[in-house]
Amino acid sequence: MDLNRISTEEFWNPEHVVEKFWNGLKDGKIYAKKCKECGAIEFPPHHACNSCGYHETEWTELSGKGELITFVFTGALNARLELEDQGLKYVCGEVKLDEGPSINAVILGINKKKAREITDKLPVRVRPVFHDMGRYTTLFFELDE
Ligand SMILES: [Zn+2]
Repeated sequence: MDLNRISTEEFWNPEHVVEKFWNGLKDGKIYAKKCKECGAIEFPPHHACNSCGYHETEWTELSGKGELITFVFTGALNARLELEDQGLKYVCGEVKLDEGPSINAVILGINKKKAREITDKLPVRVRPVFHDMGRYTTLFFELDE
């Protein structure tokens, strides 16, 4: 399949965009949409450009590498219970991907001690983790060190 072409069917059926995105994660690939007009990267992928409003975008694959800009420990109200059930240490933070987009993400492997170490060094490099949640695979990050 030619990833650089978006079919009419796909354009009018956002389900396909969502499905390709999640199937990609299962294969360790991060799919985004790139605007054919202004080149902006839409991630998570949308079928139109949020930057300039142009209606045609094409699939592109992101490295998943980027920088952790800020992070916070989650409180009881916004805790990711499924992660706590797995005994994972994590924070939520803003990751600026090398390809441009900034996203809110979960960063694994950061406990209080590690958090103190990296707070003064921000931004720090992160890399993608394709985490098996059982029923689906999702995209998290970890420190690239
Ligand atoms: Zn655009």
